Amino acid sequence: MASLLKTAVYKLGTAMQSHRRAIQTIKWMVVGFYFVLLVIPAFMKLPPRQEHILSNLVLFAQFVFWGIWWPFVILSMLVVGRLWCGVFCPEGSLSEWTSENFGKNKTIPRWIKWKGWPAVAFILTTLYGQLISVYDYANAALLILGGSTLAAILVGFLYGKGNRVWCRYLCPVNGVFNLLSRLSPIAFKSNTQKWSDYHGGHLVNPHCPPMINIRQLHGVSACHMCGRCAGFRDAVSLQPRSVNEEIIVYGNEKTNVWQTYLLLFGMIGVAIGAFTWTVSPWFVQFKQFLASWLVNHDIYWPLNATAPWWILTNHPENNDSFNWLDGFCVTVYILGSGLVFGTGLTLIYKFLAKFLHRSDLYNYISQALIPLAAAGLFLGLTATSVKLLQYDGINFWWLNDVRAFILAGTCIWSLYFGYKILKKSTDYLYQFVLSFGLFSLSLIPIVGAWWLMFWVW
Ligand code: SF4
Repeated sequence: MASLLKTAVYKLGTAMQSHRRAIQTIKWMVVGFYFVLLVIPAFMKLPPRQEHILSNLVLFAQFVFWGIWWPFVILSMLVVGRLWCGVFCPEGSLSEWTSENFGKNKTIPRWIKWKGWPAVAFILTTLYGQLISVYDYANAALLILGGSTLAAILVGFLYGKGNRVWCRYLCPVNGVFNLLSRLSPIAFKSNTQKWSDYHGGHLVNPHCPPMINIRQLHGVSACHMCGRCAGFRDAVSLQPRSVNEEIIVYGNEKTNVWQTYLLLFGMIGVAIGAFTWTVSPWFVQFKQFLASWLVNHDIYWPLNATAPWWILTNHPENNDSFNWLDGFCVTVYILGSGLVFGTGLTLIYKFLAKFLHRSDLYNYISQALIPLAAAGLFLGLTATSVKLLQYDGINFWWLNDVRAFILAGTCIWSLYFGYKILKKSTDYLYQFVLSFGLFSLSLIPIVGAWWLMFWVW
């Protein structure tokens, strides 16, 4: 059975290498579909209340983008790695195509290579998306997704002859995909021994768009799974692997602290803030407190919705406008959530690193939270899918059971990672018991936040 699976996965990899035209066709079909759903709805009227997903293009596009596309792209990272990036992503395809055909191939400036971009871009895009209600309005989606696509094309035009400079350094979800795909059960891997032993004549290395050292390939976190290198020197192949391998075996080699910040502050803290503020009574109390204070001091301008829709949500025709105070409170709530969770978890894991005299432990143990972070993103995004389908009269009586199952399962998975990592990092039983106990406690606020969102508020 295991060898059958291995053969099937291997053949899938070589098929991707030998069917480049089919992959190219898929890419252009996705680009066309993406443009239709992104551009046309932005110039249509807001749908009346009685419209349905299947009878109105604006609602259909909203459902496809936020109800299906995003949650299932997140899920796909855990199932097939970054196949989305290498085969389907319209931004990556357009950036690569522009670079290959019209690229100026300028030297990539150092500021582009700054390792903090994935974290900063994810946090700022998430915040901006909430401020202009990107899930609800097609013009907001066009601004954010279309703006990002234009930037990807521009970067492709300026840098890298056929390489994906945008995807590797600047894409706002590159860091998220990098972390999530570490849980994938398949990966392209290179066998360095076979690579060295190959005597089939001189071969030019395959073109790797995200500019990876293919010889050292042993995971999917940076690989876009495009399949171009499958079979190269009889050493590279798509292989099944344990979903725990990349974190437990190679996790301590990943020393990029910005990825840890992205995980703790962004994918956990900011994501919790972004998904919960609309239902949080704490948000309402905070806003009421500030509003009273402003009125008591005769300051009224922050209570007027005078910002244009591309700064703060402003759709009076839909009775949906943010005043300046709303914008301020949303910003404080989301960034505050990022700071509270990120700082709290950082302090705990830094303490563990000091306690166990393992300087690499902060980055290593933080990766144990990836399953729980993935569950949060998936559940938060599918909340939009559910809301849209509920408007259409569909009843999800089973939903909270499934949510509880996903949260419990990923929590156990994170605990298992913590157990394995701390077992490797401790010399004495008392060290292990204390550190694992503290790690387990650190999961409670994260699960607690989702529990509040889905079961209490
Ligand atoms: S290593 Fe590069 S060429 Fe090979 S599959 Fe990954 S992205 Fe493609």
